[in-house]
Amino acid sequence: MLLDKFLPSEYVKSIYDINPEELKKRGIRGIITDLDNTLVEWDRPHATEKLIAWFAEMKRANMKIMIVSNNNEERVRIFSEPLNIPFIHKARKPIGSAFRKAMKIMGLTKEETVMIGDQLLTDIFGGNRAGIYTILVVPVAKSDGFFTKFNRKVERGIMANFKRRGLINWEESN
Ligand SMILES: [Mg+2]
Repeated sequence: MLLDKFLPSEYVKSIYDINPEELKKRGIRGIITDLDNTLVEWDRPHATEKLIAWFAEMKRANMKIMIVSNNNEERVRIFSEPLNIPFIHKARKPIGSAFRKAMKIMGLTKEETVMIGDQLLTDIFGGNRAGIYTILVVPVAKSDGFFTKFNRKVERGIMANFKRRGLINWEESN
């Protein structure tokens, strides 16, 4: 079914449910992660202490990380640079080029990469099309930036379809 391109490989409540050993068992060595409402609230400029600890855990496990966001350079740079994490801004997910660029920078294949994000239409659809393992997280905040609001309406429809078919079962946060 066409909609199944929007179905994540896996879904968790938050990134803190994702641990490096589980990823390694799948042969994954690198993470492409969305920023807004995946790592922190869309309107929080910097990482939290908890998130910094999570990144440190990933790095200790030799997991490579890239932040790939559709948001503008200022937002993504101010967030990513203090963490020393490479990033791609204005990534235009779900288009495939940013996914390919991120894998090239990490020096990893699609089999070795995971995409983590909170949106079906950009993160999960894009990751699936790029042939990457995809993990959907519940959005950190109940609110969204302007451009995401429209996507959320479409997403709710797709989510309802998945629930009806028993493919996904969690309580949406909104
Ligand atoms: Mg997001």
